[in-house]
Amino acid sequence: MAILKVAQMGHPVLRRVAEPVPVEVVRTPAFQAFVDDLLETMEAHDGAGLAAPQVHVSQRVVVLVLDPAVGPEVLVNPVIRPLTPSIARTLEGCLSVEGLRGVVERPAHVRVDALDRTGHPKAYELRGFPAVVVQHECDHLDGVLYVDRVEPRTLAFLDELARWGRLDDPSGERNARGPDMAPGVIPIPPDVGVLLGLEA
Ligand code: ZN
Repeated sequence: MAILKVAQMGHPVLRRVAEPVPVEVVRTPAFQAFVDDLLETMEAHDGAGLAAPQVHVSQRVVVLVLDPAVGPEVLVNPVIRPLTPSIARTLEGCLSVEGLRGVVERPAHVRVDALDRTGHPKAYELRGFPAVVVQHECDHLDGVLYVDRVEPRTLAFLDELARWGRLDDPSGERNARGPDMAPGVIPIPPDVGVLLGLEA
């Protein structure tokens, strides 16, 4: 197993549309070893998810934690379908966009069809944060980064967020506390972030 290098925004691999993985390839030792490396890399970075293009492999594979009780899951050739007009608002970050966070709106309830790491079809119905995680990761497979979808005025450096809070925070509570907040007071994991709320 190995911890792989994570591509940063600006590397062309993050902008490519990734290739589907044939089911016969999924079952090869080489592919299984790659999946293990992807999982190890996600865990090493404390990520909620990681997509193959983020480690310079342009294939339609993501690993992610949808349910901490279940642990990391592997989705090969995932296809997402929104199931509701309801919107989840999330402060997102990305291991390929180090140091930044921003607010993104996405469908709050989706269905995902994919192959698991043994090549068997699997379907998920996800709501809230897990629905956001899977959309963020699958965007990587189409060369899309969360900053393409961000509400521009919410984009902020993590250090400044920890210092000043979210400038769009309607309560204003964090903002009022200003710079005496200890850095790192807001725990915001990379890939993907924290769910702020759901809107009908
Ligand atoms: Zn990402």
